Amino acid sequence: MLQILAATSNKHKIEEFRGAFRILEEKMKIITLDDIPAFPPAEETGVSFEENSMLKAQTASAFADMPAFADDSGLEVAALDGAPGVYSARFAGDNASDADRIAKLLDMMKGKTNRRARFVCVMSLAYRGTPVKSFRGEVNGEIIFEPRGSHGFGYDPVFVPDGYTQTFGELGSEIKEKISHRANALEKIVSFIKAELDSMDDFEFE
Ligand code: IMP
Repeated sequence: MLQILAATSNKHKIEEFRGAFRILEEKMKIITLDDIPAFPPAEETGVSFEENSMLKAQTASAFADMPAFADDSGLEVAALDGAPGVYSARFAGDNASDADRIAKLLDMMKGKTNRRARFVCVMSLAYRGTPVKSFRGEVNGEIIFEPRGSHGFGYDPVFVPDGYTQTFGELGSEIKEKISHRANALEKIVSFIKAELDSMDDFEFE
């Protein structure tokens, strides 16, 4: 069976990736960085989600000599000119917690009337070190004034997606996994891989 490497060891992401790849389970098995113990962590030196996710996918696919995909994600806030963006994880310093990052964000948003924001996720696919394609998912919404809810992670408690009145922190994983930036990007990469695999089948039968 074909194998694809999900270039992450984040348990939360692995679960979501496995769910989205379930439609390919007869043809393709997902392995993760936990299955490749000696893997050196890739530096996130890019200035865009596309660059960072492709860098991770290329490094992992070259190291493991197989197809690999990786994601990079973050929150872009309109009133902050797109910050924290690709720096979402490091926004309040290296050892900061989610609560520290939220506190910093709400502080910078003081007095701002434009609360528009979006989560972005880019999934990139590479094969043996060569870039194949990137897939972008987004979800638009608003930043509220005080954190609400305890589900999810990161900036979820202060983000209300369009069409809802609750934050991602209140909505829970079932809804989030349907409408999130990551769900959206995953859907695109899975249908691309499915089409590639289907065309390989057609080729074999010709
Ligand atoms: P990375 O893609 O793992 O580098 O994560 C980037 C950072 O963006 C995370 O540490 C979070 O702070 C933030 N982020 C990305 N996706 C989400 C999400 O679905 N909810 C809340 N925060 C997120």
